[in-house]
Amino acid sequence: MQVSDCIFCKIAQREIPSEIVYEDDEILAFKDIQPLAPVHLVIIPKIHLRSLNEVNPEHERLIGHIFGVICRLAEELGVAATGYRVVTNTGTDGGQVVGHLHFHLLGGQALEAKIG
Ligand code: 5GP
Ligand code: ZN
Repeated sequence: MQVSDCIFCKIAQREIPSEIVYEDDEILAFKDIQPLAPVHLVIIPKIHLRSLNEVNPEHERLIGHIFGVICRLAEELGVAATGYRVVTNTGTDGGQVVGHLHFHLLGGQALEAKIG
């Protein structure tokens, strides 16, 4: 299910170029265009869910799969031992800009301890 005016759907469809680091039938991981840390990936489900607000029990396996891949990518990118952060901004107050559910994987430097 793709949405025509969605940047991340377009990335998944290869209509917008990106540096893809992982792909399978259900998810895609690519480098953030404005990285906030030496490692900054964006991980998305290929189906267009606008945010965590649209996640329901039928997506639980998908969300678990996303986190499994995030763990593997953190290992492969060499940040698992030093540590990393996974962030999902949700809605306006959560600072979400792109309206397609996504998870940021940030690492490669000591991140600010503060959240929010
Ligand atoms: P949000 O603030 O919605 O949680 O994060 C959206 C993220 O997507 C931002 O970190 C932004 O830099 C990234 N982003 C926005 N447009 C593009 C794009 O066209 N390509 C890539 N690779 N990242 C993008
Ligand atoms: Zn989308």
